[in-house]
Amino acid sequence: MSRQALDELKQQISLLDYLQGHDWQSVRRLSRGRLMGLCPLHADRRPSFLVDTSKGLFYCYGCGRGGDVIRFAELYHQVKFPQAVALLHQWRGLPPLLHETADFYRMQLQRHSEAVAYLYQRGIRSPELIEHMRIGYAPGGCLRGWLTQLGYPLQTLRQAGLVTGVGYDAYMHRIVFPLEGNLYGRSLSATAPPHRFLPGSKGGLYAWEQVRQSPEVILVEGLFDYAVLWQAGFRNVTCSTGNHLNGRQYRQLCDRLRTVYLAFDADPNGSGQQAAHSLAGRLREHGMNVRRVSLPDGHDPNSFFVEDGDVRQFQALLEAALP
Ligand SMILES: [Zn+2]
Repeated sequence: MSRQALDELKQQISLLDYLQGHDWQSVRRLSRGRLMGLCPLHADRRPSFLVDTSKGLFYCYGCGRGGDVIRFAELYHQVKFPQAVALLHQWRGLPPLLHETADFYRMQLQRHSEAVAYLYQRGIRSPELIEHMRIGYAPGGCLRGWLTQLGYPLQTLRQAGLVTGVGYDAYMHRIVFPLEGNLYGRSLSATAPPHRFLPGSKGGLYAWEQVRQSPEVILVEGLFDYAVLWQAGFRNVTCSTGNHLNGRQYRQLCDRLRTVYLAFDADPNGSGQQAAHSLAGRLREHGMNVRRVSLPDGHDPNSFFVEDGDVRQFQALLEAALP
């Protein structure tokens, strides 16, 4: 690869975007566009990782390593230079590829009655909501043809995790929700694993830009929980796609002092409530006001609304939520 092509690659991928795409966040802003945060390359307790956004360079005062975005990819993924360059190429191409994929799945949704019926059964009925969440359906067996016709090599689709090694659609028979840099797929079939993500980060909190100004935020585990609440008119709701928050999601939730209503599942094995309990403790250490919403046994927000719960009843649960 020529020197010029490498320079172009570095211009196209900002180090900061790449870091943030790998769940890094700055904790302190210094002068002249320089940021400090925890080092993603070693077990860092005090922020020792300096990023110079104008120069596209990093340096860690803890482990002494530094360089440009290619060097970072080498160290972070523990690969040699050519593999790091290949990974960066792939990363640069991912957003347009995921966009095309999500658009394709959206087109499929209305053509497949089994998908619409499944959404209906999970309480998702409003066209406005389907549009807002850009919900699609992967019928299986046609994504690869569509994307290769658009010029994406099969190799790229495999690397992204969209098709399997033998070329099948990895999201076959799944309802698909686009996330930031990923796709969530919910299986229609009871025999397949229910949840699927592409390899890599699941991204930040769902639709965070729309709720981050809100002094009170409702946090749910699943996108189907998010969907029914949004449809019922609750617009200060966000979702962590699972009851474990990644570092980025956690820092987003703590980016200002606010009240967080944790509306996690009240599932029989107690895992949702345990997760809510431990998250509540951590959030309180950060000075957050936390309320745990107590759903009827065996329910999550989705099943609560599906089984005739209404806005007024959910509002009552919010008001009754205890610290
Ligand atoms: Zn370090």
